[in-house]
Amino acid sequence: MSFESLGLRTELLRAVSEKGYATPSPIQQQAIPHVLEGRDIMGGAQTGTGKTAGFTLPLLQRLMSFGKQENGRRSIRALVLTPTRELAAQVDESVRVYGKYLPLRSTVIFGGVKINAQIQKLRSGVDILVSTPGRLLDHISQKTVDLSKIEILVLDEADRMLDMGFIRDIRKILALLPKQKQTLLFSATFSDEIKQLSKGLLKSPTLIEVAQRNSASERIKQVVHPVDKRRKRELLSHLVRSNNWQQVLVFNRTKHGANHLAEQLNADGITTAAIHGNKSQGARTKALADFKSGKVRVLVATDIAARGLDISQLPHVVNFELPNVAEDYVHRIGRTGRAGNEGEAMSLVCVDELKLLKDIERLIKCDIPKVVIDAYTPDPSIRAEPINKGYGKQNQAPRRSAGKKAEKSKSRQHVAFKSASNTRGRSGNRVQHSSHSPC
Ligand code: AMP
Repeated sequence: MSFESLGLRTELLRAVSEKGYATPSPIQQQAIPHVLEGRDIMGGAQTGTGKTAGFTLPLLQRLMSFGKQENGRRSIRALVLTPTRELAAQVDESVRVYGKYLPLRSTVIFGGVKINAQIQKLRSGVDILVSTPGRLLDHISQKTVDLSKIEILVLDEADRMLDMGFIRDIRKILALLPKQKQTLLFSATFSDEIKQLSKGLLKSPTLIEVAQRNSASERIKQVVHPVDKRRKRELLSHLVRSNNWQQVLVFNRTKHGANHLAEQLNADGITTAAIHGNKSQGARTKALADFKSGKVRVLVATDIAARGLDISQLPHVVNFELPNVAEDYVHRIGRTGRAGNEGEAMSLVCVDELKLLKDIERLIKCDIPKVVIDAYTPDPSIRAEPINKGYGKQNQAPRRSAGKKAEKSKSRQHVAFKSASNTRGRSGNRVQHSSHSPC
């Protein structure tokens, strides 16, 4: 299938071809014709599937093919809501890239930067607005944005927005939009909350799902390296050096932990930056740019900071700590193995995290191979300790069942990695087998 056969106009085809895309990705093949027909969409797709072009291309085409400027003034006709600043900036960039040959204007607004420049841009007139919910509400309360002419609404990474506690903000925004509009909702998972939200919002939506719900991508090679907590940093340095990795995204549970790890890796001579909610927008943008350009080899991120990051062809993701909520594992490893490339997702797991590991394996319905790296064998006498969940303001306890899980894991348990049936893998390191089907 070609982009031409999807019925896109020449200006869009030209932009797509300049971007170097030869064929539409599965989500694009499925979504574009339905969006062009004006249908509402419920799209199950993670970042990395090409979903941004999947909604942006037909959105631009629809804006070109209907609706007029009133009295020569532009009004905001399409609104894209995203959970994070980074994702908002990336979507805005995509709108600009795909719409470069069209006379449509877009702008992006998010918190953490001064509001005045955003007000100026809005005043000068835009057709497409990309925004995070919080800053949009600031503009609404200052009456610097008018949403009454919205024709198309996109909720990108809707599950993330709910996890981050944006549901009330979203409902406030939705109340200000015209009833008659086209709505496109994208979400990596379809929780009950998402279903609830979509019920009132979407009209006979077309359901599109490209990746199996809650399943880790098959292109991603997953492995667990059992290791004692106090030796994780040493093992990470060893892995980066011995494999000569040049670009690694490392996940940490807490902002403090991310900073500390970045400092330690830098001290080990591995250029590292940290990205989390306490960093200024400028620092976050710089860290990401340095990581993308290869100036820093390792980017340590918290879950929330990393959401929606588009770092294409990312070869390695390391879970320095497992996430508190199993679904976040799927999001984390989704940063690698993107757009047809193979990726590797490694988890450094200490005895405290075995319960979290079990939850993840139950969710993804397979056992992640466990490979003990020689010289980093866990000490079997070390007992599990409760995990510091690290919920600061940014790392809020997710709304799902994490509360209960956190309570449960407080009880001290004596669990250990299975020591039975260890054999040697190709690398000479020990591989631990389990009775379930491997990932
Ligand atoms: P997204 O899921 O929208 O974040 O896109 C993930 C990555 O895939 C981005 O780097 C896009 O530039 C890239 N991409 C999107 N569509 C295509 C396509 N049809 N062919 C190749 N790469 C694509």
